[in-house]
This record gives sequence, structure tokens and C-alpha cells, in this order.
Amino acid sequence: MKFNRRTHNCGELREKNAGEKVVLNGWVDNQRNLGGVIFIQMRDRYGVTQVVVEETDDKDLYAAAKGIRSEFVVSVEGTVRVRPSGSENRNMPTGMVDVVVSRLIVLNEAETPPFPIQEFVDVSEELRLKYRYLDLRRPSMQSNLILRHKVSQAARKYFDEQSFVEIETPILLKSTPEGARDFLVPSRLHKGKFYALPQSPQTYKQILMVSGFDRYFQIVKCFRDEDLRADRQYEFTQIDCEMSFVDTEDIYEMFEGLMKRLLMEIKGYDLKTPIPRLSFDEAMEKYGSDKPDLRFEMEMVTLNHVLGKCEFKVFKETLENNGVVTAITAKGFGSISRSQVDALTDFVKKLGAGGLAYIKVKEDGIDSPVAKFLSDEEKKNIVETAKASAGDLVLILSGAKNKILNIMGALRLEVAKRLNLISPDAQPALLWVTDFPLYEWDEDTKRYYAMHHPFTSPRIEDIPYMDSDPSKVKARAYDLVMNGNEIAGGSIRIHNPELQAKMFKVLGIADEEAKEKFGFLMNAFKFGAPPHGGIAFGLDRLVMLFAGKDSIRDVIAFPKTTSGLSLMDDSPTAVDDAQLKELGIKVRE
Ligand code: ASP
Repeated sequence: MKFNRRTHNCGELREKNAGEKVVLNGWVDNQRNLGGVIFIQMRDRYGVTQVVVEETDDKDLYAAAKGIRSEFVVSVEGTVRVRPSGSENRNMPTGMVDVVVSRLIVLNEAETPPFPIQEFVDVSEELRLKYRYLDLRRPSMQSNLILRHKVSQAARKYFDEQSFVEIETPILLKSTPEGARDFLVPSRLHKGKFYALPQSPQTYKQILMVSGFDRYFQIVKCFRDEDLRADRQYEFTQIDCEMSFVDTEDIYEMFEGLMKRLLMEIKGYDLKTPIPRLSFDEAMEKYGSDKPDLRFEMEMVTLNHVLGKCEFKVFKETLENNGVVTAITAKGFGSISRSQVDALTDFVKKLGAGGLAYIKVKEDGIDSPVAKFLSDEEKKNIVETAKASAGDLVLILSGAKNKILNIMGALRLEVAKRLNLISPDAQPALLWVTDFPLYEWDEDTKRYYAMHHPFTSPRIEDIPYMDSDPSKVKARAYDLVMNGNEIAGGSIRIHNPELQAKMFKVLGIADEEAKEKFGFLMNAFKFGAPPHGGIAFGLDRLVMLFAGKDSIRDVIAFPKTTSGLSLMDDSPTAVDDAQLKELGIKVRE
């Protein structure tokens, strides 16, 4: 059907356009037939405009308008008029006008959609994903994806101004060691051999530094075959960056600049820099997390030093076993009910704590099931150390250090949630977490793993411990945390082949294996590798936070379910035998 190019989009017309002849193309948001006059709301990604068909001389036009249903694609021509007084809609930017239609063309019909294309309709996510093209017609989904586009564009512009070069690295490559499972792609020409999809462009970006590109970035898909959660997908997007001749301070400055730019452009928020920093150890001690949410305080304090003589069995045993007794103070939560206490106790028990001790601080002392086991001095010291005052609640956990710090970290978040300590329009809280351990010990396999990845440089002063006590070695690695989410992570890299070889050795990677897996990188390092370091931002998570969403699926056009299915196209699917044969693959039962 012949139709005319639009003169305006559906979000554009205002009173000043009154009298103009216009053409609008779009979808029918809804049609209301009031008998003698039909109102059609026309929608495109810019907005909604009301068009009106009146039962005048043009019977055909009126009949056509009558037959129109939601989601039909139409082109209308008509004249803009200011809406008659009383029928304006001030909630809509175009709500002061409508278009009196003189020509209406149905460009395509639509079946009744499985859910109305509206905000706040209660639709299961399954249905939304199956009919993603319809879900993506909803204004909020459109604005999420447009926001994502804006973040990418603002980042690109910033990097360009800073002389970064955007370079693509291969999608088919040798498996990269970020520690997750690889997605494999069989090679047809080299039967029995496989490419891996990149878990990140880590090795390639380091090689680009050896080549002299000096400042690299790429907005790039990465793939990890891990169990999915709300904020994980098999494929996700990183803003991946690498720089030469830098140390940690240069990285902090450059990427604080990026965050400043993004927050200003996207949220109109003026980020104060430098962004505060906490070492990994401090973050664990104070917040029980390597990605603490600093939108609220509630710092953890250790009570070990005030309980030295304590006779209370639980605390006593903990201290004898070199454990930790740690506390948080929930301000004004002293009126907590028995059932609320029980709920919090269940919460920590599920995470593996033995129990939860609590103290309600009163004007004239304390109220607590453990009070009878504590001396007056101990009570006083606990309240003082926890900086608690009348009306507050002190929550205490004790046990093995790492475990208890983690559980207290989770309890801290839970209490904040229950107390509504995080207001929806709280200012973003950013934080660098630094000095991560270089290694993580794994009890099951009885070996060390790289906490970040095997190319991360140890702190120079810690290199001697690589042989004697690897657990003591801190890394030149950093995470950027926003509102309790890790939004970026990176490190200064090893650029010296001997140190790299030593690293592999500590990780239990034999020379042969190292050569076979990373020989290409080690070789490159022999030809003049500059000192370098970098970082990668999780774009999906960043956009999710900017959009104020809880799931990255809301900021990804075509995400998979938590079981890795694409409900829209039903992938993954079986493939026919011929296809497998060509690849030299036989599926095991
Ligand atoms: N490749 C790392 C990652 O994906 C980031 C980095 O070290 O730059 O986490």
C-alpha cells in the first residue's frame, strides 16, 4: 500500500502545530469508538498522539477506522487541531492537540497480542521473553535500550577524546583463562579441534599493548558458560580497556573520569572525585563484602578486644579458636519484635551461622538474652564499641573469621533493606576496592587459583612471598563498586616473562601446559612488552543500575532465561546429523 513519509513522529506535535497538515506512521496503541467519532492513539518510539476520525462525509474512512485494532500498523494524514477545551490530556506531551484524519491506510494488521503493550501490566517474564518483540514495544523497555545506547556513545566519545583506539578482537579464539567454563565452537576444517568464544579479550588486549597501541578499548561481547542468576547471562557486554605505561593511580584517574562523564551525561549527577578507596581487607572487616554498599553506613566492628575475659561460652570458644566476634548497630531498631529477631536469626542460620546474639540498648541499660552472661564492664564496652545509643539494636555474630565476616556483610544488607535505609533516590555510592589477594586457596583441589586472572601483577613488595607464602601476596588489582555492585574490575599486568612463569608455577600450571596455553602471550612478552594494565566494565550491570532496574535482562534486547533458553527462537536446538557429521561430532547419549 502506498503511504507517505511521516512529517512528524508520534511524540512531536504541540499546540504550535495547529492547522498544519501532517503525516504520522506508527502502531495503534488503542482505538475507542464513541459512536460518530473514533479516537485512535498512535504510538511509535517517540511517543503517542491522538488522532480522530469523525463520521462525516467520508464513510469509507470511518469504516476503515472502525475496523482498526490495537497494534495495527497505520499511516494517517490529517490536520492538527488544538483539542476542544476539557479534552486535553496534560499527562501526555502531545496531549494538547489531536489530528483530524483525512486519510488512513492500514499498512499491516496484527493479531491480538498476548499481553497489552502497556506499562505496569502484570505479565510473566516468560511471556515477555517469548514475545520479546512486543515487550520491546513498551516505552520503558525502549527507554532502557536507548539509555544503553547513550551509555555506549558517551563512553566511546570519552575514550576517543582520551586517545583510546577501539579495536576488535576475535570471537573465535583459543580458550581464555578467566576461570569460567568456555563455550566451544567445533572446527570443520580441523576436525576434533575447537575454538572457544572469548570469556574476555584479555590476552588479545595485552598483546595490543605489546604492539604499541597504548590505549585500547572495545565494547565487546564476552561468553561464560556459568550457571545464570538475575545479574548473569551466558553472553554479556564489557567495556574492555587496556593502557600502557600506567600504574594503578593512572587507571583510577582515567576511569574516574569515565564515571564522572557517564554519571553527568546519563543521570545529571556530579560525581566528586577522587572516588574513595578501601583495601580488600578493610572492606571485609568493615562491611563483610568486597563490594560493599556505601549508600548507608552501619559499619561492622570487632568486639574481640572487649571480650577477652568473657565467660559467655559461645564468645569464649570463638576467641579461643582465633575466631571473630563482630557487631553492627541498627540505629533505632531497638523496638524490634520477637518474630523479627527470629526472622533475622533464620536468615543468618541459613548462611551457616550458629546463631545471632542481640542487644537492645535502653536508656537505663540493655535488654538482651545474653545480658546475664556479660559483666557490666563488658556490656558497657560492647555498647560503646558498637557506637550504639538508647533505642538502637546491636546484632552480634561470632565464629570463624572469614565465614562470619561474610555472613555479617549479608546481614548488614538485610537489615538495611528491612529498615529502608536505602532511599530510591540516594546518590550513587562509588568505591574502589584495592589490594585484592593475588591467590585464592581451593580446599577441594588443594591448590591456589588466581583471584583475578593469572596475568595480574603481584604488588612488587610481595613478590618474595610468592615462593614462601602465596596467601600473603596482594595483587595490583582493583574493582570499582557502585551501590554494592561490582561494575568494573581490572589489574596492572605482569609484563615480564620470568614473573609470568613464576605466576604459572604457583598456580600449579606446569611449564608444558603454560607453553601450550599461553605460549603466544609469553612469546609476545619477549619482544618488548611495556608495563600495562587495564579494566573491564560490565555494561549490562552499569546500564541496569543507571536505569534503576533489578535485572540485567531488562537492559538486554534479547536475553536468555536463567536456564539459558531463548524463549523467542527456542534455542538451543538439536541440529541434524549431516551438520554434525560435517563437523566430525557425535553426540553422546
Ligand atoms: N579481563 C578481566 C575480566 O573480564 C578484566 C581485566 O582484567 O581487564 O574480568
